[in-house]
Amino acid sequence: MRRAIAGHDDADVPCGSCVGCCSSSQFVLIGPDEDDALAHIPPELLFPAPRKPTYVLMGYDEQGRCPMLGEHGCSIYAHRPRTCRTYDCRVLAAAGVADRVDDKPLIVAQAMRWRFELGSANDRVLQHAVVAAASYLERRRAELPGDVAPLTTTHVAVAAVMVHDLFLQHGDEPSPEQVTARLRTR
Ligand code: SF4
Ligand code: SF4
Repeated sequence: MRRAIAGHDDADVPCGSCVGCCSSSQFVLIGPDEDDALAHIPPELLFPAPRKPTYVLMGYDEQGRCPMLGEHGCSIYAHRPRTCRTYDCRVLAAAGVADRVDDKPLIVAQAMRWRFELGSANDRVLQHAVVAAASYLERRRAELPGDVAPLTTTHVAVAAVMVHDLFLQHGDEPSPEQVTARLRTR
């Protein structure tokens, strides 16, 4: 997850036949460097992304489905945008927030199914830190500046993975400044 969040790797989610995130009324953000994806998406499906001048968004139809979603899954799978390559609904389960995602029942249902094998004490410490980070981000998001404050439950979960190492030690919570600095290193 951390490698995918950092943009170094695709997520390796065993999705099977699930297309939950492709049919949950989600906008797909596409960067200016994504030539391959942009070459495979009709331009009329794209519009400028708010607050990200060089980015575009792809929307969804009346059923909440991505326009590139075909009968047998993504019609541009090998060329799909980075947003799709790195999406990982397991992050919601890892952060303990899967049941708090509003308006996305397909993703919630899938995310609630994941179970983690926490074989070692270190595994348990790591997941506890991610859950603690998510709790902090939900409680104290108003103390974070607008460019890093998580807006949605999914943002909370992703941010929790990014800053979890600040929560490995029991005791005082990190300051909003420490969390902000870590989130800005993304
Ligand atoms: S909701 Fe999860 S399992 Fe389903 S397609 Fe998306 S990432 Fe894969
Ligand atoms: S481009 Fe493909 S993978 Fe991405 S949301 Fe659309 S159908 Fe799903």
